[in-house]
Amino acid sequence: VGVFYRPLEKIAAVIETYPRGIAGFRRYQELLATEPEISDAPDAVEAPALRGDIRFENVGFSYDAGRPILDGIDLTVKAGETVAFVGPSGAGKTTLLALLPRFYEPTAGRITVDGLPLPALRLNSLRRQIGLVSQDVFLFGGTLRENIGYGRLGATDDEIRQAAARAQLTQMIEGLPDGLDTVVGERGVMLSGGQKQRVAIARAFLKNPPILILDEATSALDSQTEREIQQALDALAVGRTTLVIAHRLGTIRNAHRIVVMQAGRIAEIGSHADLIAKGGIYAGLAA
Ligand code: ATP
Repeated sequence: VGVFYRPLEKIAAVIETYPRGIAGFRRYQELLATEPEISDAPDAVEAPALRGDIRFENVGFSYDAGRPILDGIDLTVKAGETVAFVGPSGAGKTTLLALLPRFYEPTAGRITVDGLPLPALRLNSLRRQIGLVSQDVFLFGGTLRENIGYGRLGATDDEIRQAAARAQLTQMIEGLPDGLDTVVGERGVMLSGGQKQRVAIARAFLKNPPILILDEATSALDSQTEREIQQALDALAVGRTTLVIAHRLGTIRNAHRIVVMQAGRIAEIGSHADLIAKGGIYAGLAA
C-alpha cells in the first residue's frame, strides 16, 4: 500500500502546505527533494477563478522511461461533474489524478482546465483551486482548530466550527477534553482514519475549491462512520468538479460517470446503469 499511496500523500502535502508561506515552502522543497521540481514557465499566468472543466487529451505518462503507466487517456469532465475512477491496484488511478495538480508532468498529450493548458498557469494559483480529501491527510502537532483552519488561513472561529459541522465532526469535538483546543497529532490525541478523513473534509469546506480530488478511505470504517463520511462527501462535492479514486464499488453509484481503468488505459466509461447494462468489466466487478 505504501508505494501506491506515495504520490497522493505528496499531492496532499504539497497542496496543503504550499499556502503556508516560507515554512510551507520549505516543507514543499523537502518533499520534492527527490523529484524533479516543476517550476513556472516565465510566461505562466495567474489562474482565473476556475469553473472546473477538465480535459485529458491523449495523456501518457511513465515514471521510468520504457514502462508506460498511462497511455492514451482521453477524458472530458464537465464543471460540477462527479467522476469515479475504479480498477485494479496499479491501474494508474492515483497517478492520473496526480497529474492534475502537476505533481508529475504528462510524458505525452496535455491536460487543460477551462481550456487552459496546465503549464500556462502559475502552479500556486492552480493548486489553490484544487482540494484534496484523503485519509492520509497531513496533520501537524497543534490544536484541532489549527488543523482544520489550515484549509484557509485567516478563517474565523465561526467558519471553522461551521466547516467542522459540515464534515460531521461536531460530535467528536464535543467528546474531546478541550474541544477544538485539543492538541492532536503525535504529541496529542491520535485521530482515527475516519476522523482524519473528516478533518480533511472540513479543510476542504473551508478552502472551497472548484476542483476536488477524493481518495476514498481504504481502511475499514464501521458502517455508521462510513455513512456519515459519505454524506459529508456528497455535500462537499455539490457544485464542484469531483474526481474520486474509488477503492470500493458501493460508494460510487451516485457518481455521474464511472471510469474503469486497466493497465493505464480507460477500459470502460459510463454511468453505473450504463456499465451494468453493458455487461463488461464493471458489471463483472459489481456482480
Ligand atoms: P491503487 O488502487 O493500488 O491505489 P492505482 O490504480 O492508483 O492503484 P497507481 O498508484 O497510479 O495505481 O500506480 C500505477 C503504477 O505506477 C503501479 O505499477 C505503481 O507501481 C507505479 N508507481 C506508482 N508510483 C510510482 C513512483 N513514484 N515511481 C515509480 N512507479 C510508481
